Amino acid sequence: MSQRFALIIDPAGPDEERVDYSGSFTLVDAEAPALSVGELSTQRGDGVFESIGVIDSHAQEVGPHLERLANSAHICDLPAPNLEQWHQAIAVAAAACPAGEWVIKLILSRGVEHGPTPTAWVTAAPASDFSAVRRNGVKVVTLDRGYPLDVAERSPWLLLGAKTLSYAVNMAALREARRRGADDAIFLSNDGYVLEAPTASLILRFGDRFMTPAPTGGILHGTTQLSVYEFLAARGFETGYARIPASDLTNADAAWLVSSVRLAVAITDVDGQNLPADQSLTADLNNYLLSPRD
Ligand code: PLP
Repeated sequence: MSQRFALIIDPAGPDEERVDYSGSFTLVDAEAPALSVGELSTQRGDGVFESIGVIDSHAQEVGPHLERLANSAHICDLPAPNLEQWHQAIAVAAAACPAGEWVIKLILSRGVEHGPTPTAWVTAAPASDFSAVRRNGVKVVTLDRGYPLDVAERSPWLLLGAKTLSYAVNMAALREARRRGADDAIFLSNDGYVLEAPTASLILRFGDRFMTPAPTGGILHGTTQLSVYEFLAARGFETGYARIPASDLTNADAAWLVSSVRLAVAITDVDGQNLPADQSLTADLNNYLLSPRD
């Protein structure tokens, strides 16, 4: 068995009530073949997923991640996941993760073409070392996503509020950012509003007020952004959601990309323009995000 491992889940119906689902999990070596070549996740990217940070065998924010998995499944017309079964699978996987930072991925795919059920599995692997980027921040470029801000209501078949397996576009945006000499990207709507990064949410600071783009369907509602807002509210800061014009990016007093595994990274540069980085608050945020959270 390599360091990575996976649990294949025999998915239970959403209303099934079993006390113990351990009999529905099969532990496999993540390097060993386990999926059918007819899998629609691999053929069409047809499925949804979640990435959960694991710190010293504790899976972070499991409830919000499962809520988002269920919402993504609903948007994609996939059968509703049995949340208790997923809770138990995550608990088994987290307990098997050694000390340090790991990442657990939940995958719910439409299954094998013409098959009877979705395919579901959980993987666990060591997280990359993000300590340098947490300390030093990232340079970003803005990239046009090509849609207006209200596209999710107008064209729900684009599945924009779901965390789907179809991340090829997000990965292409990261490559484009690197070609332009940056580390990461921020998507803009084609009517000029700030959205999100390809794998992270954006938080801007204006004085003692923190703002993030409203998750009205066109972007993912980040679990880390929600945690960061709890942390900030407890310290007396004002937090809110808004339509944020792209011009506000460079007017911010500070800005961060936040996500479950990389956690909080300060934005130091937007399209070649310097942004002040608050490294002391960034360190506080990451200390908080690295502490056990449910
Ligand atoms: N937005 C996108 C497009 C993402 O892929 C992610 C995470 O992968 C996020 C936002 C941040 O979500 P979370 O904080 O739940 O990891």
